[in-house]
Amino acid sequence: MKLVCIECGKSRRPDNPYPMSCDCGGLLEVEHDFRGADAERLKALFDSRIALRTGPYASGVWRYKELIDPGLEEARIVTRGEGNTGLYDCGPAASFAGVRRVWLKAQGENPSGSFKDNGMTVAVSRGAAAGFRTFACASTGNTASSLAMYAAWAGLRCVVLVPPGGVADGKLAQTVCYGAEVYGIEGGYDTGVRLLNRCGEELGLYVCNSFNPFRIEGQKSIVIEAAHQLDWTLPDWIVLPGGALSNASALGKGLREMKAIGLIDRLPRVAVVQAEGASPFHRMIASGGKELVPEPAPRTAASAIRIGNPPSWRKAARVLRETDGVTCAVSDEEILAAKRVIDRAGVGCEPAAAAGLAGLKKLAADGTIGKDETALVILTGHMLKDTDALRVAPDAGGGPFSPDELLARLGRRA
Ligand SMILES: *Cc1c(COP(=O)(O)O)cnc(C)c1O
Ligand SMILES: [Zn+2]
Repeated sequence: MKLVCIECGKSRRPDNPYPMSCDCGGLLEVEHDFRGADAERLKALFDSRIALRTGPYASGVWRYKELIDPGLEEARIVTRGEGNTGLYDCGPAASFAGVRRVWLKAQGENPSGSFKDNGMTVAVSRGAAAGFRTFACASTGNTASSLAMYAAWAGLRCVVLVPPGGVADGKLAQTVCYGAEVYGIEGGYDTGVRLLNRCGEELGLYVCNSFNPFRIEGQKSIVIEAAHQLDWTLPDWIVLPGGALSNASALGKGLREMKAIGLIDRLPRVAVVQAEGASPFHRMIASGGKELVPEPAPRTAASAIRIGNPPSWRKAARVLRETDGVTCAVSDEEILAAKRVIDRAGVGCEPAAAAGLAGLKKLAADGTIGKDETALVILTGHMLKDTDALRVAPDAGGGPFSPDELLARLGRRA
């Protein structure tokens, strides 16, 4: 295994995290050597681990260690049993979107409540193994919650930079409760990422933003686990929200590697959905542009994807080329309509997570996705993460009523 620059191809050993990008400015990516991999042997190994209830291989990420970080010593793994999330065949979501079948992959069921745990377990394990004691990130919320949780669990220091007023209350509370040092930063997420990228090494920080290539490796487990749950087949489409575009990059890499090894025999197409007010990647793809033009003032109620300058856009663009993928942008109204369907179906998710289903509906309506096709929609975060956006019925919380009044209201005649 080695780290390879996605721009110039220069490579180096994976043990030292710095510099976290190439001299040429390109992002680094983990390159595995899967030449000896045997799909049938791997499937049997992964199946055998399903029976485990404790230890690192009971994790829904580390179950797939051979595909994610084969070189890491087992004793170095920092895990909270992440992954192992539900995959729900959801009729109401399929009817809403206007396609044949929709599977919801509920990453909100992770220990800190979002898919960030899938990647963070690998980044923190690698950083601690390299001897770092202080971990840092810039975050719109869920990255901070996740990093704070793993740092607390492993007894490490955690520093997070957040856009003032730009993080949902629940996420901030979670981060503070886990013991992280939280700093607001002028200019928000995009400025925070730039600052950590430039000064992390000098400050002795192990930076866990998504340009950290090990997060991408861990996030691949979302599609690997979904394929395993579906007996090594996948639906026609994988649909997910895009902010920093790390997850689109990760899922695409996971698909490519599973296909190369022979774990799956067909590549699904990937659809990346952005919020209209924070959609620089969609604009670039739709206009046929070759360079991403950042959005200086990103706006959307879905705070987790309120990102104007997504660091991983080049990796995500490659995923679109390789999977014949597409992008689209949806309004906040469309996001909240999709969220209502997911909530009422009994699964639930935070607003950013609902962008995927909103995009699926839009792409099915304009014929990009066929009505007889099937989709796996990644629900990236938990319903209780962003309670600012929860809709409460106007008559909720009436009362208090006496027991007799209540029985009368519920329809019982005296
Ligand atoms: C981080 C996050 C996203 C965006 O993922 P990227 O990898 O930044 O594109 C979407 N939804 C939720 C809930 C998130 O926490
Ligand atoms: Zn390079």
